[in-house]
Amino acid sequence: MPDCFEILNKDLAGRIGRLRTPHGVVETPALMPVVNPHLRLIEPADLKRMGAEILITNSYIINQDPELKELAARLGVHQLLGFEGPIMTDSGAFQLSVYGEIEVLPSEILEFQRAIGSDICVPLDIPTPPDVSRARAELELSETEQRLSEARDHWEDGGPLLAGPIQGSTYPDLRFVAARRAREIGFDVCPIGAVVPLMEAYRFSDLVDVVASSKKGLGPAAPVHLFGAGHPMMFALAAALGCDLFDSAAYALYAREGRYLTSSGTLHLEGLKYLPCCCDVCRNRSPEDMAADPHKVELLARHNLSVSLAEIRRVRQSIWEGSLWELVERRCRSHPRMMDGLRALTSHAGWIEGLDPASRSTCFYLGPESARRPEVLRYGSRIDRIELAGRVLVADPGVEEEDFDHVLWFLPPFGPYPKELAETAPLNAEVPAEADEAGIAQALANLRSLMEDNPHATFDLRLKAADEYGLELEEVSGR
Ligand code: ZN
Repeated sequence: MPDCFEILNKDLAGRIGRLRTPHGVVETPALMPVVNPHLRLIEPADLKRMGAEILITNSYIINQDPELKELAARLGVHQLLGFEGPIMTDSGAFQLSVYGEIEVLPSEILEFQRAIGSDICVPLDIPTPPDVSRARAELELSETEQRLSEARDHWEDGGPLLAGPIQGSTYPDLRFVAARRAREIGFDVCPIGAVVPLMEAYRFSDLVDVVASSKKGLGPAAPVHLFGAGHPMMFALAAALGCDLFDSAAYALYAREGRYLTSSGTLHLEGLKYLPCCCDVCRNRSPEDMAADPHKVELLARHNLSVSLAEIRRVRQSIWEGSLWELVERRCRSHPRMMDGLRALTSHAGWIEGLDPASRSTCFYLGPESARRPEVLRYGSRIDRIELAGRVLVADPGVEEEDFDHVLWFLPPFGPYPKELAETAPLNAEVPAEADEAGIAQALANLRSLMEDNPHATFDLRLKAADEYGLELEEVSGR
């Protein structure tokens, strides 16, 4: 485990951590506003006042501008930007992905980052876009791995942190292998690269698979940066997969297009009659005021960043109290493609269940995907611990009967449970009065396992909603 990162709390695959850098400790998950050294829409000192604890800027842009390069070399990147907190620098890989080539050697740009005092330096990797041929993805990955190895070989520990980006396009197995290799080489931070096209196209299902595969290869120890993830709508989902660092160019880019960010999606300033926010910018303004203001873009950027930073705090609070799943479900229900992401998350439920700590707050059942949350899967996998003999009644919660050796109550999505456990987690879950199909199916599957595990017991079922439970229940009870 990199000794610069300490995990304090966990929920799902997400965590609250402390990342130590030469310019101070950052609590994660954290959002790094992107500062374009040419175009400072909001001054970095102001970003700090707004709550940003760490920034990211592009060392390639600085390196290519003779004046900035000279200033950075003389003063360091912190004085250049006027920010005393931690600063991460990018290598120009993004420019490489957009323009196809850049005018700097990998060793040169890495050395430049160190020379200007960056806190987290990123070797120049090859950002392989989604959907390329497997041959190209493999070829570029091997070039990236070679560069990462060289970077590590020449790196002295104890100074700035060294990042090891994970590539592999949209091939989950390549992402996994790349991540495992990065883990072997040993990096302080692992960015997951070249995912911006997936996010721009709202391909959240593919994004989840890429992130989950990378995380499985990396293991839980390394802090992970989801490169280019700046929309607050997706922070909870990404954090649930174990991403610790996000960067937002979105706050400024969206502002230039008149787009107003919220944690549940993007609105257009021109379509708004009211501003649904009480940040410093929105509190005393109408959308008309904002549209007419000569500083409209800056005002929008300030709002966009405020809601993004607030969402990061909400994610931290959710991890801390163990309610991240609920936040993820709520956020994912705000867009159909985010729902695809949530479903993809449930397809990795077994892996998440293995990382998720057992004690937590009350579960809320918010929809069919809740039937795949870790508490439910864990309950199902442990149902064989219930030992039964003689006559067993499975009934609705609250039913008492003295003529049976055991009375179990039945609650979708968990299924049967000893009534003594009714007030304990996870059976104290808040569930809808009327269960949905996914919840019923999971509960019946657990009931079936319990019956198989206790072949010498006889089961009676008395459930009011038996009609809704349908044929499957008859099949279970007709054993
Ligand atoms: Zn606002």
